[in-house]
Amino acid sequence: MSDLRPASPFRLLRRTLLAWFRRNGRPLPFRESPDAWRVWVSEVMLQQTRVEAMLPRYRAFVARFPDPGALADASEDEVLAAWAGLGYYGRARALHRAARELAAAGGGIPDTAASLRRLPGIGDYTAAAIASIAFDEPVAAVDGNVRRVLSRLFMVEGFPGRAPFEGRVRELADRLMEADGGRDPGDWNQAVMELGATVCTPAVPRCGSCPVREFCWSRVAGRQTDFPGRPPRPAPVAVRLAVAVVRDREGRILVFRRGESPMRGLYELPCGECRSDESPETALVRETASRYGIRVEPAREVAGFRHTVMNRRIAVVPFEADLVDPAPGETVPGGRFVHPRDLDRIPSGSMLQKTLQRVASTRRTPGNPSRRLLVSARDDP
Ligand code: SF4
Repeated sequence: MSDLRPASPFRLLRRTLLAWFRRNGRPLPFRESPDAWRVWVSEVMLQQTRVEAMLPRYRAFVARFPDPGALADASEDEVLAAWAGLGYYGRARALHRAARELAAAGGGIPDTAASLRRLPGIGDYTAAAIASIAFDEPVAAVDGNVRRVLSRLFMVEGFPGRAPFEGRVRELADRLMEADGGRDPGDWNQAVMELGATVCTPAVPRCGSCPVREFCWSRVAGRQTDFPGRPPRPAPVAVRLAVAVVRDREGRILVFRRGESPMRGLYELPCGECRSDESPETALVRETASRYGIRVEPAREVAGFRHTVMNRRIAVVPFEADLVDPAPGETVPGGRFVHPRDLDRIPSGSMLQKTLQRVASTRRTPGNPSRRLLVSARDDP
């Protein structure tokens, strides 16, 4: 029997946006079948990565690890290597831990947001996305896209991350989820996210093509880009980092495994930050002694480059360097020599790869004996 009640503005908005999503939603591989594992992996990958960059990695990852059991059986190195290029490796470690917890408990993927929330790496948003898309639970998923869309539609004042803003967005998201009896919760959550990803974009919302423009308070007020509000940004921190490329007699490269967050578990070249009053050579010798217990002698500085990690703007100053202590041929405690062709098989950050590319592209040739071949990043702020 058809519903003859007059539609509330929330129900109308919901139906309008859902109809648009069903016609216009992008045909992404994880939308083809609402399989909980695929939804989970895709949502974790998308937390910090754009969909275009994530898709090739996603396909390779779910082919390599088709279910949580396959991931649980893999070593951390294998998992981090499969995650290479996506960054924010803490996500991969948490996914791995969660898969192992499920394997240890002998159960499948939990089917409610509340139970999913207890797994490592799964927050409110991811739990709601998996539960609604894979298990039809009517629970609203609120991510950055949803915050932006709802704050613009209803002119929600304040900043993301602050209680009044988050409380109001949550209230609106819940009301919209329930407005039509909580029907099609997975499609509804994806519809709001899709609008935020493709139409109600951060800098220039395409209001002329927006299916819910008639419902949008900020469009009527001409204040779309005032929402959501932005808290003051932390000032960028400028850092100079001296990095050593040390080879053994077989041409293998010395790397160490990092112990601290956020790069824990990844391999890095020996490196250290420069103090404001010291040369990169001095910093390299001092820092590699204190951080890794080795003594190196910088032999050749090569072209530097800039690298950004969160609010740290890093001027990287690479050196080819000789190992003095331990003596060549001796074991390096905590270190490991890896052949260049095997470096893409160990988990490492993009800075290691960039450094090696710089060094390889400026190797000394017989006709070019200069010690410093290119302008370095040492003068960068
Ligand atoms: S009308 Fe513009 S600001 Fe409002 S939801 Fe649509 S795209 Fe966003």
